[in-house]
Amino acid sequence: VSGSPKQHRGPPDAAERAASVSARLARAGLKRSAVRNAVIEAFFASEGHVTVDELLLRAREILPSVGPSTVYRTMKLLVEHGFATSRDFGGGHARFEPASGRHHDHVVCTRCGAVREFEDQEIELLQQQVARRLGFEIDSHRLELYGRCAACRAADARPTARGRGRP
Ligand SMILES: [Zn+2]
Ligand SMILES: [Zn+2]
Repeated sequence: VSGSPKQHRGPPDAAERAASVSARLARAGLKRSAVRNAVIEAFFASEGHVTVDELLLRAREILPSVGPSTVYRTMKLLVEHGFATSRDFGGGHARFEPASGRHHDHVVCTRCGAVREFEDQEIELLQQQVARRLGFEIDSHRLELYGRCAACRAADARPTARGRGRP
């Protein structure tokens, strides 16, 4: 219960974005559905990089009847229509983030799964230079750094209280 603020509320424009995406899907000929809308709303209210399991929990807070297959189908739809990007950071679960159109790379905690985004112009340029040296011209790239986040490292450093029982 230390200083970390509760970040359960997503971006303030989440509901608006969800509504506009639902409307565009409807215009693309897809029948509107309450469960799908719940998934879309949960997705845009999230901080991004969410798994299907995490989305299912969040969507069920909006509409308890949402099932896992609806989450799968909805996310597939959002990816196909360019509203979401699927990322694979290992661990066997795809993670989804809203398609921003802005390039960024990721640092991933191998302990708790936390994902942070970054973009560093120097690294971007270095990658171009390395590729050029090898005779390549880069169309795209993915850069993922894996390690332990600050919270997990702090938890690891804490001495175990067990066995030192006070009376
Ligand atoms: Zn962590
Ligand atoms: Zn990202």
